[in-house]
Amino acid sequence: MLVAAALLGAIGGSFLNALSFRLGTGKSVLRGRSRCMRCGHTLGVLDLVPVFSYLFLRGRCRYCASKVSWQYPLVEVAATVLAVGIYYRNPEPLLFAYWFVVWMLLLFVVVYDLRHYIIPWSCSGLLALLGLVHVWTLGFDAWSFAAGPLLAAPLLLLSLVSRGTWMGWGDGALELGLGWLLGLTMGLTGFILAFWVGAAVGIAVLILKKGYTMKSELPFAPFLVLGAGVAYFFHADFFSTLPILFL
Ligand SMILES: [Zn+2]
Repeated sequence: MLVAAALLGAIGGSFLNALSFRLGTGKSVLRGRSRCMRCGHTLGVLDLVPVFSYLFLRGRCRYCASKVSWQYPLVEVAATVLAVGIYYRNPEPLLFAYWFVVWMLLLFVVVYDLRHYIIPWSCSGLLALLGLVHVWTLGFDAWSFAAGPLLAAPLLLLSLVSRGTWMGWGDGALELGLGWLLGLTMGLTGFILAFWVGAAVGIAVLILKKGYTMKSELPFAPFLVLGAGVAYFFHADFFSTLPILFL
């Protein structure tokens, strides 16, 4: 089962890669064979084996020898690791399927935000919906339901004050779903981690990269998802013992 989960992850990652280049570009998301981005040659089965094709061909196109983006193997490996982690946490098939969809969507949001500097509304909307399903299965208790809006509020406020320049609207929409998916205390833990790591990386980029100013855009979704991942997979929860949350 573990091997099956890993395989599913690798295939999922491969699909996410293709989707990240197609969604929002006018190309069909599901139709059409994969092609080399440089020479346009249709890729065969041997070119599409997750991770292994990249390693075997040493990161180059078989037909024109141009370099293939390392996004491909990286996302495939990340999706595989996520799938294995999800299986460890939720071996029951239905729960596994649910969290698999959730984390593939979150990984996709990361890839898409890094590549296009935007979070597709379809993704944040779907994640919010899945989050509500999670809240519903918990029985709609007040704190689980409040988690989404409470965690999204600071980000939405930042967007409102800056008219979307400090923080994109999509980040707040994403956090709404993350709050519902993780609950208040775990969600807040992920949120704080995201700000710490985001601030550290932001400062490092300012110092190390020439031409980067405070005004330059740094996609924030990767940090939100990273924080959520640490909270979810490592059961990190700074606040579970706060008495007020048991009222
Ligand atoms: Zn090529």
